[in-house]
Amino acid sequence: MSGLLANKTALITGGSRGIGKAMVERFVAAGANVAFTYHHSQTEAEQLIQELSSKHKQHLVCYQSDAASLSAAEALIAKVGKDFGTIDILVNNAGITRDTLLLRMQEAQWDAVINTNLKSVFNLTKSIMRPMLKQRAGSIINISSVVGLTGNAGQANYAASKAGIIGFSKSIAREVGSRNIRCNVIAPGFINTDMTDQLSEKIKQQFLERIALKRLGEAKEVADTAIFLASDLSTYITGQVISVCGGY
Ligand code: NAP
Repeated sequence: MSGLLANKTALITGGSRGIGKAMVERFVAAGANVAFTYHHSQTEAEQLIQELSSKHKQHLVCYQSDAASLSAAEALIAKVGKDFGTIDILVNNAGITRDTLLLRMQEAQWDAVINTNLKSVFNLTKSIMRPMLKQRAGSIINISSVVGLTGNAGQANYAASKAGIIGFSKSIAREVGSRNIRCNVIAPGFINTDMTDQLSEKIKQQFLERIALKRLGEAKEVADTAIFLASDLSTYITGQVISVCGGY
């Protein structure tokens, strides 16, 4: 991976924990300058900066920013652009779950998931459009889920948000492909993070039975796919969904 992202700047949302944190670590190891956001986990975000800054010389900054807010996204893109010069790669990773059956689902649970998971992708992508169009280059990577492809009982809000990301990304790929801006989706399966820690052993076992590789995925395995899509190894790939799911 070393050097694959040299001289590139990436902005990753939700880099304080889980898959986003692994992306920050792997992108820095691949030579990128990295800006990342957190929402609540300031301590984790600052610790990550400290750890990585002691080993790598690239530019690395974290920003508190709510991905669900358009005005916050606009301010973030302006600030990162100023601090880093350019943004070559955007990874929309921030996400939450509020799982429950539809009969019990409150409007607030629907809104929170749609705003954080789907509207955030609109917010950040819309805000970065002008700078990317101007530089006539860019790679946008949106983190969906296999649940967005299959649906899942108890996750109608989450599955809708993740399926929405796929339609959005395929449309953006068509809108800006002629300007050398690519937009792809990663659909992770069952990855070992705080998000999946909340699930019961019974649910985990049910998932495991349906995973061909018979294990959960690791955050770095999703991060390595993001490096591929961010790098010049994938210059002719856009509008695609890559599942990182162990053959689920
Ligand atoms: P996680 O461990 O719960 O971490 C979520 C990250 O998103 C945290 O850094 C969190 O920041 C950030 N975040 C949440 N709301 C935010 C907001 N409003 N603004 C900015 N950042 C926000 O989750 P994960 O498992 O790494 O998931 C990362 C992405 O992968 C999500 O989009 C998720 O849906 C997707 N995914 C995960 C799995 C899986 O099995 N884990 C499978 C498929 C897809 P703070 O801690 O600072 O609030």
